[in-house]
Amino acid sequence: MTAEYDIIIVGGGIGGSALAATMAKAGKKILVLEKSTVFEDHVRGEWIAPWGVAETKRLGLYDLLVSAGGHHLARHVTYDETRKPEEAEASALPLDIFVEGIPGPLCIGHPKHCQTLYDEAGRAGAEMRRGVNVSRIAGGTAPEVEFTHDGETRTATARLIIGADGRASATRAAVNIELHQDKPHHMFAGLLVDGAEGWDKEMQAIGTEDDFAFLAFPQGGGRVRVYGSYSLDERRRFAGENGARAFLDAFRMKCAPPNEALAAAKPAGPLLSYFNNDAWTDEPFAEGAVLIGDAAGWNDPIIGLGLSITYRDVRIVTELLKGSDDWRPALFAPYAEERAERMRRLRFTAKIQSALDAEFGEAARDRRRRHFERSAADPLVGAHAFAVMAGPETLPPEMFTPERRTFVLEEAETGDAS
Ligand SMILES: Cc1cc2nc3c(=O)[nH]c(=O)nc-3n(C[C@H](O)[C@H](O)[C@H](O)COP(=O)(O)OP(=O)(O)OC[C@H]3O[C@@H](n4cnc5c(N)ncnc54)[C@H](O)[C@@H]3O)c2cc1C
Repeated sequence: MTAEYDIIIVGGGIGGSALAATMAKAGKKILVLEKSTVFEDHVRGEWIAPWGVAETKRLGLYDLLVSAGGHHLARHVTYDETRKPEEAEASALPLDIFVEGIPGPLCIGHPKHCQTLYDEAGRAGAEMRRGVNVSRIAGGTAPEVEFTHDGETRTATARLIIGADGRASATRAAVNIELHQDKPHHMFAGLLVDGAEGWDKEMQAIGTEDDFAFLAFPQGGGRVRVYGSYSLDERRRFAGENGARAFLDAFRMKCAPPNEALAAAKPAGPLLSYFNNDAWTDEPFAEGAVLIGDAAGWNDPIIGLGLSITYRDVRIVTELLKGSDDWRPALFAPYAEERAERMRRLRFTAKIQSALDAEFGEAARDRRRRHFERSAADPLVGAHAFAVMAGPETLPPEMFTPERRTFVLEEAETGDAS
């Protein structure tokens, strides 16, 4: 049995479902093939940066996310062992200053987020299939996907295949797009906790003490997504039966008294750890196929931008598709060009943030102390926060050079601004 579509989307997570909803609303015939039968907590993104929230507005999806429980955060605090908690709290950063009309980052549980977009795509008229096994993906001038669903093997053809199938993208492999990856910098583990009512529900926070750095993003109702960074040498530090307990105990920090509420909270999902790194593709398209989201390459989660990146991919690719009937590869060159520079800038920014927050020991501690002092005297020292919150395009190109890294981190020039 063969069916014909305008677009077949492999992967019905954030990127796949958002693109399906947008293009189905534009009147295109869409097939979405999603592997899972239920969206589960895999410790994935739940914090959307203000510039990503702006992208959801441009896509007409913002109200949907808010009605599904999206929760805005109002301020950011950076705790650190080199300063008193009161000092950290006094210099809290308001989060409504970065993008006009956006009150701050938006938090929404990842499984709920995926399901909300998946349902929206179905309501918009896309054909949604899940529990699907995709067995063959062929790009080229006659794109085709073979899959098994409900015990039946089918072939579908389309004008274009969108690969929205995440980090290990089968679409990327099938159309021979090379993925580049840099070396992991540190370990990064995440856990969802419930019962943290003592945590201010509008405050996100990060902080470093001894050999552990934390991040906390409340979702409302006492639920908080917490992350921890630690050294690559300690990759099994939180493995095993008591891993979640040991992980939460690591949040008890003298420099961050509110963390007691996190340490006392209950795990509400799995504790999963990752090697934090960046990955990118030179051209996220080939004849008959375009990659979006993590499939096209990802940013180090230390700066929490994968969702914002994915929403921007969806917005740019759908604008191109809606603007022309000629969907041959040349149409996607502006997307590739913009994405390459966007990811280069975010890679640069994530490396600075990783060096500052997730390196440990005396030299790193001294550097953080000086960084706070220098930032207080000259706000430009911490300007990379604008790339994270307002978007990498809001800063001039000279903020992403080896000289800039040397200036911010006070280290020898590496020549690496790739
Ligand atoms: C530890 C960690 C923390 C993070 N925190 C944040 C954060 O706070 N904020 C943020 O913005 N980003 C964060 N991210 C990144 C963010 O989660 C991703 O960038 C985002 O989920 C990418 O969306 P996607 O749709 O491209 O891919 P995914 O969310 O990975 O979705 C891919 C979908 O494709 C399906 N699929 C895969 N293979 C196939 C196949 N062969 N056939 C059919 N379907 C398939 C999967 O089941 C899934 O539903 C984090 C990532 C990690 C690892």
